[in-house]
Amino acid sequence: MTNRWPPRVFPLDAAAIIRATGGRRLVIVAPHPDDETLGCGLLIAAAVRAGISVAVIALTDGQASHPGSRRWPPAVLGRLRRAELRRAMARLGAGSAAVRFMGWHDGNVASEGHALALRRVLTELGAGVVVVASPRDHHPDHQAGWRLSVVATRGSDVALVSYAVWSRVDAGGPRAHGPIAAKRWAARAHRSQVGGYIADAAEGFRLTAGHLASFTGEVEVFTAARRGREKARSRPSPPPQPRPIRTPARAR
Ligand SMILES: [Zn+2]
Repeated sequence: MTNRWPPRVFPLDAAAIIRATGGRRLVIVAPHPDDETLGCGLLIAAAVRAGISVAVIALTDGQASHPGSRRWPPAVLGRLRRAELRRAMARLGAGSAAVRFMGWHDGNVASEGHALALRRVLTELGAGVVVVASPRDHHPDHQAGWRLSVVATRGSDVALVSYAVWSRVDAGGPRAHGPIAAKRWAARAHRSQVGGYIADAAEGFRLTAGHLASFTGEVEVFTAARRGREKARSRPSPPPQPRPIRTPARAR
């Protein structure tokens, strides 16, 4: 057993994560549809190219991003966002990936989420590495998703890695440089979040040009929490230091 707890945390890259699957499935845990693309779109595309099976587990349907919209009430918006996730995966070359929707409510993962239910899905999918949104992200669903994933994989030989979404924006980078056509195309599949697609919700969430510039650069940010069956080689750099977090409005 190669697991350690408390975890050894170190930065790593997509190639190391793909090696760590040991031929089993790479499972991305997305608190909301779009997190999988914004945080690990390049990893997903690279895994598919390497012949690794990929799956996404969406904890919520992201149905709280546009409160007050009459045209897109939560249930309807949730269905749209499920479809957006599938479209984004297809644009990343992962159209055949398994997608599971836990159906917990956006904003309520801490109270509705069940580690046992998540563990069952991970077992069914044959997960080798689980990649889940970072506990450093300021959104409470991201933090709750991390805690659930830690419990759901505890005592197993599944490696656990986090990916940064909002924490990379809060930290001011890394920024885009160079065209990442597939990932940008996939990000645009999440049209309820990116454009003016939902126009009748004054409080609706919108990914700004600055967010997209940060998310769709050449760098994705991963942190290993627990090694699985295969040893993922780390780069010899110091662990990231905690930073104070600025909270942008209504980030989903
Ligand atoms: Zn999210």
